[in-house]
Amino acid sequence: MWIDTHCHLDASEFDADRGAVVGRARAAGVTQIVLPAVALTNFDSVRQLAHTQGFGYALGIHPLCVERSQDDDLHHLRAALAERRGDPRLVAVGEIGIDHFVAGLDRERQARFYAAQLRLAREFDLPVIVHVRRSADTLLKHLRQTPVGGGIVHAFNGSEQQAGTFVELGFKLGFGGAMTFERALQIRRLAQSLPLEAIVLETDSPDIPPQWLYRTAQERAAGAGSRNEPGELPRIARTLAELRGLALADVAAATSANAHAALPRLAALDAAAAATAARGPA
Ligand SMILES: [Zn+2]
Repeated sequence: MWIDTHCHLDASEFDADRGAVVGRARAAGVTQIVLPAVALTNFDSVRQLAHTQGFGYALGIHPLCVERSQDDDLHHLRAALAERRGDPRLVAVGEIGIDHFVAGLDRERQARFYAAQLRLAREFDLPVIVHVRRSADTLLKHLRQTPVGGGIVHAFNGSEQQAGTFVELGFKLGFGGAMTFERALQIRRLAQSLPLEAIVLETDSPDIPPQWLYRTAQERAAGAGSRNEPGELPRIARTLAELRGLALADVAAATSANAHAALPRLAALDAAAAATAARGPA
């Protein structure tokens, strides 16, 4: 059993064949997928998809969507969290965070939206799913000011020291396609050296294609697709197993347990599903 802790299954890249994508994921043993929202505009679609497909979802405003979000959207997010607080498939506030990689973004505004969403996570007693790019120290500063009940720092790309601090604050770190590139030295070093308890797996589909799906800009211009999908998770996990010298089954068990520890409501969902399966057909 595998858990993809971060997948944008509602993205338009999947419009033509979403059902087949989910079918391939299930066939590959990916039994649970977390669908983070990115802005008000996709709150309904992630929730509905999670309910029709049996997955978990998160509600939040992504740092790259902050520019085109209104201040009032934070009130709408609060209202949505209040309305769905009893929904067992709502497992986190996310995707939230700060991006210092993309040039020309309003850093103050990103920080304000991030801090406000940390306060919402506290208010609704939910973990958070965090986006980090060249922003780990700023993210950590806000987490010290507004501690939350942990969560996942997705597609982690910071230093060993920053990784350690997130772990101390109760976070798991997400690893995915980036780890499959031999030149991703820092990410591979972390995947190898962090305590296994700190690691969860993700695809970030349709983004971050693993090495075997990667296409150069030239190939893409010539029409080659490089879409990532949740069914790639077990093959991505093979890289983690090789880096750590572990059996694939042990990686599956450990990373699934870690995802459940980071997202308690996801654990409850999967426990309920397992109990139903054990009872067999009525
Ligand atoms: Zn994402």
